[in-house]
Amino acid sequence: MDTEFCVLRIETGVYSVTNSSGHTFYIVEGDERAAVIDTGCTHGRSILPIIRQYTQKPLLLIITHAHSDHIYHMDEFDEVYMSHREFELPESFLQMMMEDKQLNLRSAKDVRTGDLIGLGGKTLEVLEVPGHTPGSIVLLEKQNHLLFTGDAIGSGNDVWMQWPSALPLDQYYPSLLQLLKWCVAHGGRMKLLGGHSRQCFGSHLLPYNPLSLGWLCDLIDLVDQVLQGKMIGQPSDVDIILEPEPPLCASYGRAMMQYMPSRVYTDK
Ligand SMILES: [Zn+2]
Ligand SMILES: [Zn+2]
Repeated sequence: MDTEFCVLRIETGVYSVTNSSGHTFYIVEGDERAAVIDTGCTHGRSILPIIRQYTQKPLLLIITHAHSDHIYHMDEFDEVYMSHREFELPESFLQMMMEDKQLNLRSAKDVRTGDLIGLGGKTLEVLEVPGHTPGSIVLLEKQNHLLFTGDAIGSGNDVWMQWPSALPLDQYYPSLLQLLKWCVAHGGRMKLLGGHSRQCFGSHLLPYNPLSLGWLCDLIDLVDQVLQGKMIGQPSDVDIILEPEPPLCASYGRAMMQYMPSRVYTDK
């Protein structure tokens, strides 16, 4: 038995795959082809054999954003989609995200808000949610009301806005409002599936806190409070720090966010 990957069936033809580091990617099988959403980062392994246990359809890969735990296995796919807004990030940062690989990120096809990716019987609709990275996207699988959110709004734990790839909070706030409006315009009834599912299900560290539209509303409120100076975060205990400035952590309701005090407002 393979103990590296934990596979869960979400709906008919829809699976989540979580590796032992807690990175989650998804398989969405249509009648004609199957989409893989993100890849996780599993050193020394290929993810195709595990995917092939669940679908034999032609594959395409959709990357929610260019962090290593979402792109690492893109070289196993011929057809890849990713927002080209990720190329606003410094080349040195993108290179760091490839870890020990040389990935051809530029070979990915661009995706933008409103794009529809048909799989046969299932369709994925794209919405850009700039914030966690400039080119972060979410994907709605309309037939089963599933919203794949990558790291755009966290995974039931904290949103990481402290990384150098994140936009200032005054640019994140309108993205979140647009996401909420878009979700409501698409019926408002959907299950949210993040890029690190153990953060909301089965973590020994955290209480049960799955992503939901309620979480999104609390996050919007939280970001607004920080923008208005009504809330100032506490010193953060995150252990991956890429910048000399110490990050802060703020929470409100169900939502929590790491951020940099110097990246609340865009420099004028
Ligand atoms: Zn991630
Ligand atoms: Zn990320």
